[in-house]
Amino acid sequence: MHQADSNQCIVDSDRAIEIAPRVWWVGRVLADDPFQCHVYLIEQGNQSVLIDPGSRLTFATTLRKIEQIIPFTSIRYFVCHHQDPDITACLPLIDALIDRPDALLVTHWRCSALLHHYGLEHLPFWLVDEHDWRLALPDRELRFVFTPYAHFPGAFCTFDAETGTLFSSDLFGGFTKPPRLVAEDIGYFESMRPFHEHYIPSRDILGYALDQIERHPVKLIAPQHGSIIPEALVEPIIERLRQLDCGIYLFAEGCDTDIRRLSQLNQTLGEITRTMLYCRDFHDIAARLLEVLRRSLPVARINYYLELEGGEVIGLVEDGRLQQSAEQTPQHLRDLLGISRTCWLGNAEHGCCIHDHPLHDERFCSHITSDGSMSLMLPLFSPEDQRMEAITTVHLERPIEIGPHERQLIAQLMTPLQVALEREAIYRSIEAERTRTYQRSIRDSLTGLFNRFYMQDIIERQCHAQDRGGPRLAVLMIDLDHFKQINDRHGHTVGDTLLRQFATLLRETIRDGDVPVRFGGEEFVLFLIDATDAQARALAERLRTAVAAHHFTSETAPRLHLTVSIGIALRHPREALEALIQRADKALYSAKQDGRNRCTFTD
Ligand code: GH3
Ligand code: MG
Ligand code: MG
Repeated sequence: MHQADSNQCIVDSDRAIEIAPRVWWVGRVLADDPFQCHVYLIEQGNQSVLIDPGSRLTFATTLRKIEQIIPFTSIRYFVCHHQDPDITACLPLIDALIDRPDALLVTHWRCSALLHHYGLEHLPFWLVDEHDWRLALPDRELRFVFTPYAHFPGAFCTFDAETGTLFSSDLFGGFTKPPRLVAEDIGYFESMRPFHEHYIPSRDILGYALDQIERHPVKLIAPQHGSIIPEALVEPIIERLRQLDCGIYLFAEGCDTDIRRLSQLNQTLGEITRTMLYCRDFHDIAARLLEVLRRSLPVARINYYLELEGGEVIGLVEDGRLQQSAEQTPQHLRDLLGISRTCWLGNAEHGCCIHDHPLHDERFCSHITSDGSMSLMLPLFSPEDQRMEAITTVHLERPIEIGPHERQLIAQLMTPLQVALEREAIYRSIEAERTRTYQRSIRDSLTGLFNRFYMQDIIERQCHAQDRGGPRLAVLMIDLDHFKQINDRHGHTVGDTLLRQFATLLRETIRDGDVPVRFGGEEFVLFLIDATDAQARALAERLRTAVAAHHFTSETAPRLHLTVSIGIALRHPREALEALIQRADKALYSAKQDGRNRCTFTD
């Protein structure tokens, strides 16, 4: 930047400000006008150029500033990038001042079709599209860059190849308050965002315009609104513009045209969508959702209730961190899950309440709680059969007025929320199925105790752990006494029932962490981790007496008695699992030999 101070707020100084060699800002600041329209002069002796001349409100100041540099009559070219009144309304004033026969109004044919309605007498058109999009000046060439539909069908920008200045008209403009002549940092983009999101209908149109611009070595951007963009910011700002969602009025409901609010909403949705793309974890998505919702609503917490495949209902409840709730899902929510959309809508149409929640519309209902706070209930319906498959409850710190903005916010959240929750439900269903399959694969189907495959896997690992200095392993080999007789007398089904009852008794007797295995038939192995010799003996004895005292029952035989014999062994260092079991089995054999219903320890 030549003479302009890059930190300068625009004050309507009486000075023209040179922004590049022989390029001057000659605009006028209008009080309380976030649009601030800038006018630029390219000083070229009697071939000078005035860019986007201005309005009736600004022209007197612009004229005074021009005259500080050159006589007004030195201006030969008046460039109008488009036909808006803040650029062109001063043309009749200029027309009256023109005192040379070769003055020209430089514009695009589409714009000339409108500007000719001014009925100007001294300013014939010079159309950029009829002159190969370039204009030769004494010490430089201006190149015109076509940026159609970025604001106006025939819109274009002007690039000064000598200084690298792009006079960009509306493009790169912003709402600046207070006005600032030069953008300080990338933060300026936030002033541009609502401006562009609003008036440019699609990102493709903006992308095309940026492509045209990037063919030129731009060093400075001098827009007609907002702030001048210095070289360091040119690339980052173009980069951000490329990512911008345009046409946000498409999000508007009804006639809502508040672009700042729409812009905020658009950003919110963008953030959630990005979070969903990059985060697989529902906790992260939920955390982000909470964060963005809190910008607009006084949200205390959000809970999610979803029905998994198979009908299981889980609650994901925020408690520091979102987690599956140990508590039951509230009954009124359980009742709602599974109802059809028609049923819900039926209530909405009749202005009814669902469990005290007055329905606002098809999307949600609200409820004032006894402590004076408020909760919103958002149902989510499965796209296939339109059944309610999830409910989100948003708890607010205080009641709020539910206006169009709140409705719109909620409406826009529904789709990403639905996708996130569906994904979570599928993920959890798969996890639950995987757990069930795993459990089936490691457990004996009759008793629910672990099977030998699991034993092999887990206990082998435990042996390695012991050999590395970990806890010592003890084993109890348990066999039911004279079990054949039970089958013979009462039948195999009764035998099965007793095996199950024995397994229950075994589970009740042991400690958490002990590993009970059905070894085969009516033989069981119990592994004790980190048990002393005395503890192993005590537990074996406790189990033996518990079995002997227990009344086993079945439908046909109400009171049956059983006893067990138990062989006990403590694992020697580096002893193989098989060898350990064999020793315990030998001890069991001794117990049987000694008369059964007893425990035998082996060293
Ligand atoms: P001992 O005191 O010597 O162990 O006598 P026992 O009759 O218990 O010993 P034996 O090994 O001769 O018989 C085991 C019986 O356990 C034979 C079989 O019918 C029964 N059994 C094994 N598995 C099952 C089962 O899954 N269900 C039922 N009902 N019985 C089983
Ligand atoms: Mg037996
Ligand atoms: Mg046996």
